[in-house]
Amino acid sequence: MKAICVPEVGRFLYSEVAVPVPAARELLVRVTVTGVCRTDLKIIEQGHRDLRLPRIPGEEIVGEVVGSGDPKDRGWLGQRVYVYPGTWCGTCDCCRRDAFNMCRDMRIAGFHRDGGFAEFVSVPRQTVIALPDGLEDDVAVFAEPLSCCINALEMARVTAGERLCIFGAGPAGTLLARLAAVRGAAVSVVDPDPVRASRHRHGVPFEGVYDVAIPAVGSADAYREAFRCLAPRGRLVAFSGLPTGASPTIDLNGLHYQEQTVVGAYGCHYRHGEEAIRLLARREIRTDDLVTHRYGLDQLADALDVVRCRRGLKVLLYPGQSPARSFR
Ligand SMILES: [Zn+2]
Repeated sequence: MKAICVPEVGRFLYSEVAVPVPAARELLVRVTVTGVCRTDLKIIEQGHRDLRLPRIPGEEIVGEVVGSGDPKDRGWLGQRVYVYPGTWCGTCDCCRRDAFNMCRDMRIAGFHRDGGFAEFVSVPRQTVIALPDGLEDDVAVFAEPLSCCINALEMARVTAGERLCIFGAGPAGTLLARLAAVRGAAVSVVDPDPVRASRHRHGVPFEGVYDVAIPAVGSADAYREAFRCLAPRGRLVAFSGLPTGASPTIDLNGLHYQEQTVVGAYGCHYRHGEEAIRLLARREIRTDDLVTHRYGLDQLADALDVVRCRRGLKVLLYPGQSPARSFR
């Protein structure tokens, strides 16, 4: 099969590799569509805390089950699925507190084990979620980024009527904004790029007026602004990772006098995947206007270029074909 392989940080190969053989309790999935996000760019160009090499990247995976390592899983054959990217042990202290994404033994597709930038991927049966009829693959592929947004709003305990400011109007920021609006929050989105900002109604953060601030871009400046815009009892969500050494200084006295909170959010839980699929299937979160580029696996360099330069919004790869088209 064709796959993208990262032998070492800084380069990738488009090459022919063996189709994986599913082990017991694994399913073989023919990947129909896989999303490219900034994390993939980071993995390939700079490495990542959780990356083990060599690796096939890709943590946003939708496809069809075409094989199983266990005869009793044959019922899955032909089923269209979204693949939750993590595996969890179920027994560690984090898993026992329902924080699967913090599992001490968490292994993520595209990081610790091979991901979706390939024609086929073998995945643990515990990680697949069946797609309902009528939910298209290129909508379902938003389940992973949307799951991370669900986790972020959950960590911040966002409730209806709260004022929320999102920094960054890229795919993640836009999904966060749409999800928060569905949850009844009053949402502002700010972005230094006038084209991206113009897609949203609001655009100017005011000091000290937001209940929740979420930087959806890995920028220390965004974090500084996010702190400034927090109201008393406000919560800042550390949603986007920052380059090493770029973390802004936190004014603890500010947190003390204003009773503010900083809360981390990283990845997502399996149940967030189920909730994301429900939201997408019910068309509560629109995604079709977010897809700006579609590529074959052999065009990954072009796809990464779009992500690096923030030229579009969501970039999708189609490993089974080479659509060779990009629009907008
Ligand atoms: Zn665990």
